[in-house]
Amino acid sequence: IKKIGVFTSGGDAPGMNACIRAVVRTAVFYGVEVVGIRRGYQGMLESDFWDMDARSVGNIIHLGGTILKTARCTEFMTDEGTEKAYNNLKEYGIDALVAIGGDGTARGAERLSNRFKIPTICIPGTIDNDLYGSDFTLGYDTATNTVIEAIDKIRDTAASHNRLFFIEVMGRDSGCIALRSGIAGGAEAVLLPERATGVDELISKLSVDAKNKKTSSIVIVAEGDKSGGAYQLAEHVKEKFNFYDIKVTILGHLQRGGSPSSFDRVLASRLGFAAVKELLNGKTRQMIGLRGNSIVLTPLEEALNASHFKLEDDLMEMVSVLSI
Ligand code: ATP
Repeated sequence: IKKIGVFTSGGDAPGMNACIRAVVRTAVFYGVEVVGIRRGYQGMLESDFWDMDARSVGNIIHLGGTILKTARCTEFMTDEGTEKAYNNLKEYGIDALVAIGGDGTARGAERLSNRFKIPTICIPGTIDNDLYGSDFTLGYDTATNTVIEAIDKIRDTAASHNRLFFIEVMGRDSGCIALRSGIAGGAEAVLLPERATGVDELISKLSVDAKNKKTSSIVIVAEGDKSGGAYQLAEHVKEKFNFYDIKVTILGHLQRGGSPSSFDRVLASRLGFAAVKELLNGKTRQMIGLRGNSIVLTPLEEALNASHFKLEDDLMEMVSVLSI
């Protein structure tokens, strides 16, 4: 391997920059050239390449977002698109890839590396934590910390006014952010895409809480919850329950940004470092991740076909027990 291409794709996540830094510096350390591909697969199609060196990644370890930018690209998903992308890589001498992104990014990398046999390692980078092959994905810890900071602030006003707050957090298909931030933020209930909690179940829980002299409550709703989102849920609850003043907060895109936590920086550094070393060891078509405290490889095909259900059962049980 002489020239590694590195790119970020799909949704941005805090820790991507720390990961790019690790990939670039590890490659340079081992005497391999490294090229940044801007805007993911879109940049591959447009040969938007950047010859990087150790100095290209100075002063970025603490930054959210991604200096390589990111994009969603439908043209790449066609057979012609994939071929065009590969031809551009070949023409530029890029003979291996490190892809940083979510599920779609890994599917694209699988397709490219399977068809054209270009050595490829994927690094799970998404705040949703919805990838198989790693206990944690880049950005998840930071996003959860951001949510907790918001919950703490909302709690002040909830407690002062006898308010019931519905806080909607990111997670279209994954309740990981909602569940962890619900535990860490001391929520009364957490509604997740993976588990249908009916309005009735929620109301009976809130009624018990009120009987137990709770004067304020916080309910975390993942955006993909099947009851229709925080606003709709609040309307339903309002109809049957008038003990509290009911408010809704949608946290939205502020969950995507910010300086990565120490956990995400260390994870990003470990995965970027290991990805380059594994490529140089001859590994290809793998998802690299953290399991327990070890860096492990999972064949991309296996990672992409596995179930994404990742919620810890003990956390699910704890939400109701610890909020009595
Ligand atoms: P996030 O989880 O944050 O949304 P992601 O990586 O899953 O990140 P996607 O938009 O799903 O984000 O995928 C990023 C890009 O990967 C797409 O725009 C597309 O170019 C490519 N891609 C996605 N799915 C496939 C696929 N099945 N085959 C080929 N390329 C794909």
